[in-house]
Amino acid sequence: MFEILIKTLKTGTVTTKYPQKPDIAPLGFRGKPELLPEKCNFCGECVKACPPGVIWLDEEKGEKRFTLSCCGCIFCGMCEEVCPCGAIRLTREYELGSKTKDDLLTIIRRRV
Ligand code: SF4
Ligand code: SF4
Repeated sequence: MFEILIKTLKTGTVTTKYPQKPDIAPLGFRGKPELLPEKCNFCGECVKACPPGVIWLDEEKGEKRFTLSCCGCIFCGMCEEVCPCGAIRLTREYELGSKTKDDLLTIIRRRV
């Protein structure tokens, strides 16, 4: 018991001050996917590659629509890997708490 106490005192504090102080995720961390609308050509490769199926394309009233829902995203990075245009990339953002599922949607629209 005494040994454990000594070891603990020597180690010091290893926890961080988060959330009072922002905690930056390390390089390579796979967080929220981000879309770069100007680069997307609506090819649908990411839709086919997304394991949980949280990306979809549809068309309505002469408008193409691309939707990505972070609700259900497993942050695998497949969308980024297959996108031929570099239009989607995973960021280091991990604070994804929201009151509604709709708040977790990213939608881009384009006239056809
Ligand atoms: S990171 Fe994975 S689960 Fe999330 S949108 Fe991309 S392919 Fe889908
Ligand atoms: S994000 Fe990339 S892979 Fe997905 S539809 Fe747009 S261009 Fe195609």
